Amino acid sequence: MLFVDEATIQVEAGRGGKGACSFRREKYIPLGGPDGGNGGHGGDVVLQADAALNTLIDLRYQPHNRAQSGEGGRGKNMTGRGGEGLLIKVPVGTTIVDEETLETLGDLAVAGERLIVAKGGDGGFGNTHYKSSTNRAPRRTTPGFPGEARHLRLQLKVLADVGLLGMPNAGKSTLLARVSASRPKIADYPFTTLTPNLGVVRAGGQRSFVMADIPGLIEGAAGGAGLGTQFLRHLARCRVLLHLAEIQPLDGSNPVANIAAIDAEVAAYSGALLQRPRWVVLTKSDLAAKDALGDVVAAVRAAAGQRPLFVISAATGDGVDALIAALMGQIEQHRADLLSSPEHLAQETLLQTQIGDDVLRQSLLRRPQRRIERSTAAADPSSNSDDDEDIDVVFRDD
Ligand code: GDP
Ligand code: MG
Repeated sequence: MLFVDEATIQVEAGRGGKGACSFRREKYIPLGGPDGGNGGHGGDVVLQADAALNTLIDLRYQPHNRAQSGEGGRGKNMTGRGGEGLLIKVPVGTTIVDEETLETLGDLAVAGERLIVAKGGDGGFGNTHYKSSTNRAPRRTTPGFPGEARHLRLQLKVLADVGLLGMPNAGKSTLLARVSASRPKIADYPFTTLTPNLGVVRAGGQRSFVMADIPGLIEGAAGGAGLGTQFLRHLARCRVLLHLAEIQPLDGSNPVANIAAIDAEVAAYSGALLQRPRWVVLTKSDLAAKDALGDVVAAVRAAAGQRPLFVISAATGDGVDALIAALMGQIEQHRADLLSSPEHLAQETLLQTQIGDDVLRQSLLRRPQRRIERSTAAADPSSNSDDDEDIDVVFRDD
């Protein structure tokens, strides 16, 4: 799933140091002449792509970024010390746009790549600079020049690593709210009536992954409405699907049957999508009667086959840390495999292509039905369905 994570920051390069006004004064050397050095250069602000980062959230808490100014020049024609540059680390794939001119300044696509976003000011001239045949003792100097200052908009296309699946009420939103530190702003999303929730899950230190929940996913699909599977395409690029089900459904339904119903939806939608790891998570363990719990878990385990099974309570936090640690491990393994093994990369590319083909086939299959819906949606003047294939389907955000 692709989202756009954004941060706007201000950057200001260092001012140049001012030039010195100084004269050489040594014993026995009369009329020593000017020797005021130039000011030092102000430091630049530089962005650098860093493979260890995968969101821009940290920058949102650090909106003002200033490099050091240069020092003033000194006597004996000494140039002032240059200001230290400021290095700001951003995730690989960050695009940098000047907020005022809307000009794209660059894309940091490769780890280690750098872009100077604000140049430090030049140092001012010391009085030595103004020495001439007609003025041998100039007192003139210049102050340093200001550094460049810019408003930047940083944008990163974020791929969700983990996608949540499950019946309404399974506890998806509650889990996401419990484990995610913050929510990147979401843009570029084709639904206006529906906001996917996206959270960055921290798993200690710099380790993190992105978890996404699309309200409305599957809902209606299992009941035969045939709409919910359209959301499945947004899960196409998630590395792991997390299939949530209530241990003891409030509506009295059977968790094993609920899991099977959603599995069937996924299978009908895309055979390729089934190849993604789909972990089963039984939720709301705090609500289940202790004696019933063992039986349900055993039945789900038998039905889940080889798939990993977790039991959690997002309310009490029971089992949540273990789930997050396991997800982080799986995602790191996946990332490492992609980097180190060409076979994995080829496999991943093939799988994405296959899922993409299924997604396309499904959307073509659904065409007639969508046309009917479009005619009702056309009554709503705020809907603009011409260039957007999805906008005509109206969903509620639960
Ligand atoms: P979603 O439809 O899958 O997003 O489900 P929600 O996260 O909205 O949860 C549905 C209801 O179950 C809400 O009233 C939650 O407060 C409740 N709920 C979710 N997780 C737990 C839990 O672990 N324990 C308890 N007791 N209630 C929960
Ligand atoms: Mg929800």
